Formats: sequence, C-alpha cells, structure tokens
Amino acid sequence: MKILSCCLTRVLLLVAVALQFVDAQAIVETRFASRVSQQRLLTTVRELVKLGNRWGGTESGDRAVAYLERKFKSFGLHVEVIEEPERLVFTHTSWSLRVEEPKGLRRLIKNEWLAGFSPSVALTKAELVGLPPWEDLEDNSLKGKAILLESSLTDRQYQRLAEAGVSALLLISPRLPGAYTDWALIENLKASETNRVPLFNLSRNSGEALIAALERREKIVISFSALTKIGWGRPKTVVATLPGKRDSYYLICAHGDADSGGPGADDNASGVSGVVELARTLGGMVRTRLIPQPEHSIKFVVWGAEIYSTQHYVRSNADELEKIQAVLNYDEIGTGATRNCLYFESNDVEHNARLLRTLEQIGEEYVGKRGFWEEATTNPSQGGTDSYVFLPSWLRRLRVPEVEIPSVTIYTGAWNELKRLPQTEGWHSKAWKGPRDTVYVDFSAYYHSSLDIPERTTEREPFNMTWAVKAVGIALLRLAW
Ligand SMILES: [Zn+2]
Repeated sequence: MKILSCCLTRVLLLVAVALQFVDAQAIVETRFASRVSQQRLLTTVRELVKLGNRWGGTESGDRAVAYLERKFKSFGLHVEVIEEPERLVFTHTSWSLRVEEPKGLRRLIKNEWLAGFSPSVALTKAELVGLPPWEDLEDNSLKGKAILLESSLTDRQYQRLAEAGVSALLLISPRLPGAYTDWALIENLKASETNRVPLFNLSRNSGEALIAALERREKIVISFSALTKIGWGRPKTVVATLPGKRDSYYLICAHGDADSGGPGADDNASGVSGVVELARTLGGMVRTRLIPQPEHSIKFVVWGAEIYSTQHYVRSNADELEKIQAVLNYDEIGTGATRNCLYFESNDVEHNARLLRTLEQIGEEYVGKRGFWEEATTNPSQGGTDSYVFLPSWLRRLRVPEVEIPSVTIYTGAWNELKRLPQTEGWHSKAWKGPRDTVYVDFSAYYHSSLDIPERTTEREPFNMTWAVKAVGIALLRLAW
C-alpha cells in the first residue's frame, strides 16, 4: 500500500510538472500571438509596393534593401547585406499605350503592363493587326505594324516577328475563371540587351474588344512609347540575425522581388512583410526578456532575387549547410480566391516530417480560435520557390554537400487557378475541411498581374498574413528555444 501511494504521488507530481510546462508554453505562445500586428503587416506591404517592383540589382531593389536594413536594425538585430554576382536587369521609367482609332475604343486601355526587357521606343503610331500564318511572314506586309497575340511566343517566334519589322506586340491574357478579366497577366521578354520590339500585356477584356473590332474589319490604330533601361546589376540579400546560444540556425525567408515585374503586393511583399513582423515580435520578446535567448539562432532573410539569390547563398555557405536546422519560406501569404486556408508545403519530402508535423499540430490546435486560421493543411511539393533550393536534388545540382535540411514554404494561395493535388499518404490534417485524400490549392486571381496591389489582395484579406506569422512564430517557439 505504501509503495502504491508513493508511486501515485510521483505520478501526480510528474503530471503537475508536465501541466505546468504545457501551461508555460501556452502562455508564451498566446503572448507572442497577441503581439503580431495586422496593421504593421499591411503598412509594410504598402511601403514596399511604393518602392517599385524591387527587382534585385535595380534602383528599386536597392531602395527595398535600404528599407529592410533600417527596419531590422530598429529591432536591435545584427544586419548583413550580401551582394551577389551581376545579372542582366530591367527597369522601366515610363511607358504609354493607347488606342487612337476607332474612337469608341480610346478608353479601352486601363490596367495593361509593359513586359520586362522591352526596349525603349519613341512615341509611335501603328496599325494593329492579327498574327498572320507564319508562312506569310516574309512578304514585308508586317513592316511597322503592331501585332495582337492570343498566346505567348517562343524566343524564335519573337525573333522572326522582329526580323519582319513589326513595331510592337500586344499579348492578351489567358482566359481563366475569375482572373485577368480587367487586368493583365505579366509576361516578360527574354532577358537580353538586344530585344528590338516592345511587348505590352493586355487584360482579357481589352484583348477581346480588339479581336471583335478586327473581326468587324475596323481599322485599329494604336500609339505607344517606352522609356526603359536594360543593364547589369547586383541583387542584394538582407540577413538579420537573432543570436541563439548556438550558431546552428533556423532560416526564415521570402523573396524580396516582385518576380513578375509588377507591383507584387501578394507575390511577394506579403511574404517579406511576414518575415519583418516575425523579426519584430520575436526579437522584441527576447530583448525585453519576456522569453530567453533561443537555443538556436534565427536568421531572417529577404532574397534579392527569387531562386538566384538563394542559390548564391547555398553555394557561399556550402561548407556549413549542416548548421541550418530548417528553412521556413513565405511566398504569397496575402490572399486566396476560394478558401481561407494556410498551407504548409512539402509533405512528400521525408526529412520534412518533424517540422511539418509541428506545423500540422499547431494548425490543428489553433484552427477556428479567435485570431487564427479557418483551415490549415500540409501539401505535397509543387516547386517553383526558394525552399526547393535547400532540398537534396537541388543541392546536388549546385554541387554542394547533400545535407538533409528540412525546407518548407508557407502560403495562402499559389498560381492563378485552383489546383487539385492527391494528398500524401498519412498527412490528413484535422484542420482541413476538404476531402481526406485531396488538397485543393487555393490561388490568387491577381497572380503575376498588373493589379497585384494591396487594395486587391492584402487589404481585402488582411488576416492571411497574420495567420502565417502566428503559425511560424509558434513553431519557432516550440523548436528553436
Ligand atoms: Zn513568389
């Protein structure tokens, strides 16, 4: 009996200690979450978008770097700016596009966008015609004409039209449900100093109005101009460090450029804003001793140019990749067209399991609570963003040691249409409201477009960024301390 009561006391004591620990952790997480400011997140996006497209190596990119340096320093963090090798970059100072004839279409052009790497051209008037069959290109009839395109060109086709002497290209956005009706998907020309013909991206509605006019055999005359600069520039990456007890570190990142060349509020000022807000809240809690110094360091990184800068970082740190505990990358955390869901990618990578199970559990614990997400899930790899550069297949390509670095992307919408992916076996989240074996990946109707602006994305769904910051912050509080 005595032995039994002794055991019971011990068990009770252990339970009490465990509960106390759980309580303390829950309190820290609540304190952190209450410090995340939706208002600041929105302000940062607005301020970044005002700086231009933030392409690494351009003046706009440099302005964004200076802005971020200032921010991170004001949080008391150590900041380093990495200069990367030169690459060809593009800036537009101004451009114009107008329908002159027929008069009824003069107000048509609203949310169109000049393609990156378009050459400068003086104000020019030209007749707009449809694309003739490729075999009819040689007869000189296209000289000086502007061409209306219904689908993208290959580099070879672009060269052939340039050789035929066309003066401008107008490319109509694809027809996708709910996207690009009144705004333009931005496609860029190949990065080159020798492009001869400017390309303008048109919204679907503008394009269809022009097609209809051509079908009515109306003569269309447009005027256009472009003042652009194509030259060499060095992208710059900002690294702000919250030092831990060890120099192993968690890498929290986002690409700093609007890779489409447009305003890029959702893609990816939202992600950058998330990194900044995490740095502010966690850095502030350590500085004011609300929480101790973390066990592992945390590096807050904003890449100068998506993928390009990340590859440079991996190559430069090839000898100490094993110091990276995990990579958590934000890409498009500002909007979602059909769901209010927080996604954690890539659950098909085996060594991501511990990190993703932590995020999944946080997703389940907090779902539906006031100030937290309505839905959350992990999903399989889709590719195309910075977290992939840290995975073994990419490391192999870069000829650096194939260290198994857990590397995930957090987002609320990807691409420009809804995607349906088979869920990876064993990864059904209780916070997912869709079918058990399928993930519907939400999208942005403004993806890579002329209207990826705060008013259409982050301001409409301000909660998205807040959710993404809270989820990653809580994960760090569980893993890095
Ligand atoms: Zn992106």
